[in-house]
Amino acid sequence: MSSDWLDRWNRALREQHKLLFDYSNKRMKDEFAHYADCPVCGEKDAKLHYEKDWFKYYKCRNCSMVYMNPRMNDAATHSFYNSSANAIYNESKFDNPSVTSDFDNDENISNLDAIERHRSAGKKGGFLEIGSATGHLLKKAKEYGYDVYGIELNKKMCIQSRSILGDTIYDVDLQDVRFPAEMFDVIYMRDLIQHIPEPKGFLLECNRIAKPGATIFIGTHNIEGLIQKVVKEKYTAVFGFMEPNHFSPLTIRKILDIAGFEVKEIHFRSIDVTLGTMISYFGTSSFTYVYPPELGKLRRFGVKMLYAPFFCQPLRYMDTHITPSIANWLKQGSWMNVIAEKR
Ligand SMILES: [Zn+2]
Repeated sequence: MSSDWLDRWNRALREQHKLLFDYSNKRMKDEFAHYADCPVCGEKDAKLHYEKDWFKYYKCRNCSMVYMNPRMNDAATHSFYNSSANAIYNESKFDNPSVTSDFDNDENISNLDAIERHRSAGKKGGFLEIGSATGHLLKKAKEYGYDVYGIELNKKMCIQSRSILGDTIYDVDLQDVRFPAEMFDVIYMRDLIQHIPEPKGFLLECNRIAKPGATIFIGTHNIEGLIQKVVKEKYTAVFGFMEPNHFSPLTIRKILDIAGFEVKEIHFRSIDVTLGTMISYFGTSSFTYVYPPELGKLRRFGVKMLYAPFFCQPLRYMDTHITPSIANWLKQGSWMNVIAEKR
């Protein structure tokens, strides 16, 4: 990320923050706030877990789900996704293919192979990807023999993928497509469920359109992962404007169970789980802070000194190769790939 991009992004973010919050009492303005109970179990009893830029995150005392409360209502969410801040965000995520696309594409193909291994001789029927971006995964799924469908709300990418895959790519919310019941053999979503304000209703709709025995794949970060536990609200994905829900292996199992799916496999991925990354979180602020906390000179110097050895081999090699495997082995990886089946 260039410093010019970071400056423009932070300025746009502060503008949105000023619209959303009442600066006299540091609370979300009533006209934009939606107060909600636990999005997994529906209980009210929750304790304050983190606070970041005045967004408050609670942990449900009943099921341990971590969620933002209040969350932004539909009007506020819609307005953020149409703001200049979101356009600047998309520049980094989607308009700079060399940075993210190759990584995302490789991940998606490796996930597709995991689905194929799981389904072994399973039927090649309908395959739906929610958040299908440029259609890279769907193209591959089509080669594997699936009838492919996608949902992509980014207009530019939707048009781009339609030109490759045809008119089975939609640019509206899942519930608004109204797919027929029991249409799909596979439903795939990566880096999506944490953005959905009402994940239970969303997954119940997935259940309605899935065939009995269908496979659902969900990739999302693990809020109970090792790095998330160490760096807490500093973690990049704790970002109130876009990510109201934060799952763990326990809570993703629970919500999938409620929605009529049984979890079969959870694989952890932990590319950001290194001692070096964890240390660096204490010396610099992630780009998802609106108002990064002031860090004293002494602290910055201390973090620099602690971080320095990780620039050198063999420590760097050991850290990037061994620490992620330890996190995965402890089932505390930073990312979960979940494969479940409709009961
Ligand atoms: Zn709960």
